[in-house]
Amino acid sequence: MRFATFSRGGSPEVGAVGPAEDVIRPLRDGPLAFSGDMSNLAESYDDLALDLISRGPALKLSEVQLLAPILTPRRNVFCVGKNYKEHAKEFSQSGFDASSAAEIPEVPIIFTKSPGSVIGPLAEISSHSELTQSLDYEAELGVVIGRGGAAISREAALSHVWGYTIINDVTARDLQRRHQQWFIGKSLDTFCPMGPWIVTADEIDPQRLDISCKVNEQLRQHANTRDMIFDVATLIETISKGITLRAADIIATGTPAGVGAGFKPPRFLKRDDVVSISIEKIGTLTNRVA
Ligand code: MG
Repeated sequence: MRFATFSRGGSPEVGAVGPAEDVIRPLRDGPLAFSGDMSNLAESYDDLALDLISRGPALKLSEVQLLAPILTPRRNVFCVGKNYKEHAKEFSQSGFDASSAAEIPEVPIIFTKSPGSVIGPLAEISSHSELTQSLDYEAELGVVIGRGGAAISREAALSHVWGYTIINDVTARDLQRRHQQWFIGKSLDTFCPMGPWIVTADEIDPQRLDISCKVNEQLRQHANTRDMIFDVATLIETISKGITLRAADIIATGTPAGVGAGFKPPRFLKRDDVVSISIEKIGTLTNRVA
C-alpha cells in the first residue's frame, strides 16, 4: 500500500493512495477512524485492520496538497555517505571530501540530517545563497522503520522495515568541506525533500530499484539500488548494533554517481532549477530551488 501525509486546507492528515493513481482515502474518515500521524501509523501498522481502508471515502489526489510523508521526524534522519562505488570515486575526486576515509569505504559512513530540514513534494528548496555557492542534489532511497529493535541481524533486518520513500539529500558542498563533519552542510532548512509517499515494504525489493535524478529534465543520475556498497540489511544491522532503532526512524541510503560536484566543472543547483528524483515502484519527488 501507499500512504501519504496531506492537507485539504486544515491540519495534516494521513491517507492511503490508490489503488487508482488519482485517489487518496483519508484514514480518519474511513471505518478505521485512524487519527494519528505517519509515525503513529508506522508503529501501529501491524495491529490495524487494513482491509477496512478501502471502504473509506476517497478524495481526488489533485484536490489535496501532499506534504512530506513524515512531516517532522521524531529524531534525526540517519544517512549513509559514499554508498555507491562510482559516486564514492567522483566525490573523493571532487575536492569537497574532507574525510580521511578511503575512496571506497570499508565500513558504512553514517551521519545524520536535522529533522527540521524535511520538506514535502513540490515545496521549495531554499538556495541559502548567503551561505553556500555549491548547492547540490542527491537522489536516495529512504527506508522507514516499522518494528524497532537493537542488535538486529542482517538476516532479520528487512522484517523491521515498514516502507520506502524518496529522499533528496540536498547538500551545501562548501559547508560540507569547511566544517568537516557533514551535519551542517546537509541540515540547512529545506535540505531534506521527502516523498511523495511511503510504499509499504511488502511491495518492494530494496536492492532491485531503478533510481534516477533529473535537473530541469536533464538526466544527471541513473543507477540501480543493487549497486549499493552496503545494502539496506547491512545498514540496519550496522546502525542497530548500539543504537536502538525505533518505529518511524528514517535511513537515507546514499546516492549514486552524477551529483553536481562530480562534474568538471561542477554543475551546482541555481535558482529556479527543478530537481526530480524517480525510484521504480515508488514514484517521483519534485522540488524547485527558490
Ligand atoms: Mg547522501
